[in-house]
Amino acid sequence: MSLSPDAGPAALRDLDNCRAEVVALRQHAMRDPLTLLPNRALFLDRLSHAVERGRRHKEFRFAVLLLDLDRFKTVNDSLGVQVGDELLLAIARRLEACVRDEDTIARLSGDEFAVLLESLADDSDAGRVADRMLGALAVPVTTREGDVFASASIGIVLSSSGLEGGEDTHVRLLQRAGVAMTRAKAGGRARYEMYDRDMQARAVARLRMENDLRGAVERHEFELYYQPLVALETGQITELEALLRWRHPERGIVAPLEFIPLAEETGLITRIGSWVLAEACRQMRVWQEQFPRDVPLSLSVNVSVKQFAQPDFVRHVSEIVQASGLDPHALKLEITESVAIDDPARTRGMLAELRRLGIRMYLDDFGTGYSSLGHLHQLSLDAIKIDRSFVMHMDEPMHLQLVHTVRDLARNIGVTVIAEGVETEAQLEVLRRIGCESAQGYLFSRPVPVGEMSNLLERDPRW
Ligand code: C2E
Ligand code: MG
Ligand code: MG
Repeated sequence: MSLSPDAGPAALRDLDNCRAEVVALRQHAMRDPLTLLPNRALFLDRLSHAVERGRRHKEFRFAVLLLDLDRFKTVNDSLGVQVGDELLLAIARRLEACVRDEDTIARLSGDEFAVLLESLADDSDAGRVADRMLGALAVPVTTREGDVFASASIGIVLSSSGLEGGEDTHVRLLQRAGVAMTRAKAGGRARYEMYDRDMQARAVARLRMENDLRGAVERHEFELYYQPLVALETGQITELEALLRWRHPERGIVAPLEFIPLAEETGLITRIGSWVLAEACRQMRVWQEQFPRDVPLSLSVNVSVKQFAQPDFVRHVSEIVQASGLDPHALKLEITESVAIDDPARTRGMLAELRRLGIRMYLDDFGTGYSSLGHLHQLSLDAIKIDRSFVMHMDEPMHLQLVHTVRDLARNIGVTVIAEGVETEAQLEVLRRIGCESAQGYLFSRPVPVGEMSNLLERDPRW
């Protein structure tokens, strides 16, 4: 959510008028005092009646929508609670305009609204109402602090998903809507998700994984694999990327894409990330001594958005690197485009600080995000890693053209190009011809454990 600086005195007056109404109606225990919408108790009461009716009459279908505003806390924290209230009030009115009189909209808590849609002609009606609500919220709300943009994530459960159960069926329906809402948030916010039975199973699996993930660092369940980067001019390994693996006691090796998103959501990534950095720097020191080169082998480590967002990230990195004894010039941190987009000014500052320490920065998975070219220019990056999805399809003219364009852009702003996911000789050939500096992929080696990497470095192969 963001705002524009011009405030509106009319909004202020409106709020005062509403306050007067609020005072008059405060006695009403079943209403939310701010929005005058039904509160949780009244909503649950109506929902339990709907459940009853649905059980008696098979043709009576209804849906519950749970709507949670995205990043509402940011509004309250940065613009103040009064602006937060103005926003909630405006949103309540807009939501009301999206439903029929017989439907119920309630404010359950802070930024959480629930909707009961009764007498649905068709299950798909619920999705249409959700779409209408998302549309209604997309228009900025004018507040005393200027225009504020709101969005919401909506979870939907249909009565046709099952009304069997005891007296608390209505409570369970609301919980299911909550599960779907959480999915909508995880899926990128400002959207809706329908509850289905798989969702419950996934939610349980997720919770189990989260529990397992806690303490995995202490139990020494993480391990680093390494994959070489090859300089295309010499065909020699110049650098290794550290890639995290989780040795789960029951499931065996778990790939990072299966648990890193969860580690990010739960904040566990900062601990895990610190371990990764410390361990990779330590191991790289060992290899540098074991396999001395004119230009020492270097190391690249992936950094998640959440780690980067830590206020003391730079100091933290600097301490870890120093403690490991690795020359910071041998370290590259890989960030993704989302890091750069979230807060460009702060990102620029941090990248400059890291650079002063001697640490270099790569932009990972380039082409999968949204960063504009101008944007990249300001980031003082050292290399762009072209995502595997482009390298994979280089035999198609459009993708080949894109790789060309990235190479040209990179040259213009003075950064190196690294190709990810090189699997065939033909791809390597094209990349050499294009003038791409460095490459990584199964053609050279898959990510391998320390022992195997030592063997590979010992052999010092050329491509
Ligand atoms: P990434 O940083 O882009 O790493 C490259 C991924 O592509 C690795 O997957 C690697 O195994 C895979 N790959 C490399 N060459 C080829 C190829 O030729 N063909 C194919 N099909 N795949 C190839 P991996 O190890 O599963 O890691 C996936 C992602 O997880 C990484 O993508 C990175 O974003 C993230 N990740 C891995 N380790 C860490 C970590 O320590 N911290 C953080 N924050 N993220 C990590
Ligand atoms: Mg990477
Ligand atoms: Mg990548």
